[in-house]
Amino acid sequence: MSERREDIGHGLQTVRRRIAEAAARTGRETDEITLIVVTKYFPASDVRILADLGVREVGENKHQEAAQKADELADLRADGLRWHFVGGLQSNKAAAVARYADAVHSVDRTKLVDRLSRGALERAGQEPDRPFDPVDVLVQVSLDPPGAEGRAGADPRDVGALAERLAGAEGLRLRGVMGVAPHGEDPRPAFRQLAASAAAVCSVDPGATWISAGMSADLEQAIEAGATHVRVGAAVLGPRPRIK
Ligand SMILES: *Cc1c(COP(=O)(O)O)cnc(C)c1O
Repeated sequence: MSERREDIGHGLQTVRRRIAEAAARTGRETDEITLIVVTKYFPASDVRILADLGVREVGENKHQEAAQKADELADLRADGLRWHFVGGLQSNKAAAVARYADAVHSVDRTKLVDRLSRGALERAGQEPDRPFDPVDVLVQVSLDPPGAEGRAGADPRDVGALAERLAGAEGLRLRGVMGVAPHGEDPRPAFRQLAASAAAVCSVDPGATWISAGMSADLEQAIEAGATHVRVGAAVLGPRPRIK
């Protein structure tokens, strides 16, 4: 067994244990929580190792890198590997992202809705022999104070309207909300805010129950606040390689 495979295996085991312990403390079932391994900056060979170790959900945050890996690893789709796009979305890239992403967590403005819908429908046209699966979409909610620099995500007041647009868009399936807690602070107030936005989205579509929250540093607090999907990179794969 390669050293890299061994390291990744240990990382996975540790994170799965953390998830199970946090779930148990909160009286939740471990299988209510989906681990998405965020593979940004790591090579396609690591994604292959992850798939081999049983991971079926991987996340990326940059369009070009994600598109390249999804293409190179197209064979893994047949085994059920799913690509989650979790990064900031440029309007002019949104349709392209929806052509390979199975889930897009970072929908934060209405301008993206028609573009994502178009990309999803184009993909359906390109893969006529595959059953059409709508692209899962989540509203990214800003958990930073208003006016904070680099604030990503929709203002909590705009979440309901954005969710309604997504719920009505062809080729997309509204799934829930996503949030990133502010760095270097107690994440719990942010995760409580996200839970409130999740309730607003559920009132648009009762089936939209996903709460994508929690990363390497704060997955326990996210699970305690109701996260259904955690997005974990470094704790599984180690420190990210320096940006090329
Ligand atoms: C990179 C990233 C993660 C994973 O972060 P880690 O600290 O490596 O676990 C999760 N969510 C988003 C949106 C990311 O960009």
